Amino acid sequence: MNITVTRTDQPKTKPADDKLGFGSLFTDHMFNMDYTPEKGWHNPRIEPYGPIVMDPATMVLHYGQEVFEGLKAYRKPDGGIQLFRPLENIRRMNRSCRRLCIPEMDETVILEALKALVDLERDWVPGSPGTSLYIRPTVIAMDPFLGVRASHTYRFFIILSPVGAYYPEGFNPIKILVSKDYVRAVRGGVGEAKTCGNYAASLLAGDVAHREGYTQVLWLDGVELKYIEEVGSMNIFFVIDGEIVTPELNGSILPGVTRNSVLELVRAWGLAVSERKISIDDVMAAQRSGKLTEIFGSGTAAVISPVGELKYADTVITVGDGQVGPVSNRLYQALTDIQFGLTQGPEGWIESV
Ligand SMILES: *Cc1c(COP(=O)(O)O)cnc(C)c1O
Repeated sequence: MNITVTRTDQPKTKPADDKLGFGSLFTDHMFNMDYTPEKGWHNPRIEPYGPIVMDPATMVLHYGQEVFEGLKAYRKPDGGIQLFRPLENIRRMNRSCRRLCIPEMDETVILEALKALVDLERDWVPGSPGTSLYIRPTVIAMDPFLGVRASHTYRFFIILSPVGAYYPEGFNPIKILVSKDYVRAVRGGVGEAKTCGNYAASLLAGDVAHREGYTQVLWLDGVELKYIEEVGSMNIFFVIDGEIVTPELNGSILPGVTRNSVLELVRAWGLAVSERKISIDDVMAAQRSGKLTEIFGSGTAAVISPVGELKYADTVITVGDGQVGPVSNRLYQALTDIQFGLTQGPEGWIESV
């Protein structure tokens, strides 16, 4: 593939590593590619980062035909840069595209585009502990048309954002509230696709949780409001009676790359693990019998997010002793060591840039 590169003549000043937050600063360049029915995906190019000018009738603005991804580039101790399981994100993006009636892309083209852009921006990958370069590939429907159908034209772009350490004050547990009024996704819906509407749909429940002093929402299934699905924008795990349990993928749960990596690691470590339906009642019963020792979320941003407190209806429980548990700790350490190149992960997990 021939990627045209147009460099900026106004490079930005790079922020100090300790000034990095999440998602508000972007690098100098972006990758763009277009789709038309006649040409397919064409004109791959790296250009200066900047606005996308669009007609007010552009379909993505009205009907949310969009998919996105999120992964990171990490700085290794020797100064090199690496990606963590990027093909998993690319394959998931194509599955999301299929669900949203967006034409799929060639995996190798997208991997090449990711690497070319990160390589051009390699000075933007921060090096302090816990910092990284967040990568956001996105596809949007571009037809200027008011009417519900799949768009005929699309734009694919990738933007990059240097991000700070997720746990600058140390690895701390969060408090979560079980949502009884709102659901994130329903059977047959788009819950397993990374598409914008899912996040718009989650905001109000998030507001309610924040007002009550909770950091994240624990989502129950959209049919019976009974089975656990996810926490915030993360997958969720429980440690019950020594077994690591996560809800099985059912079409409404987002299949996280971190979730899958956690499963592969704990299986390799020989720990008891199961993917199955787990109800909120099972969790509360495990707590009452003293068998619930840990809850944690998993996702690219936080890697592992231990849960210290959970509220369901009028019951508030402290998970374990409210501190980070041993499984959460071990997984966090193992995953970040692999991501930052301190240890070797399983075959095929790392892609050098
Ligand atoms: C992205 C996302 C996750 C986590 O996926 P990772 O690939 O591990 O980052 C989990 N749930 C939702 C709803 C998500 O959007």
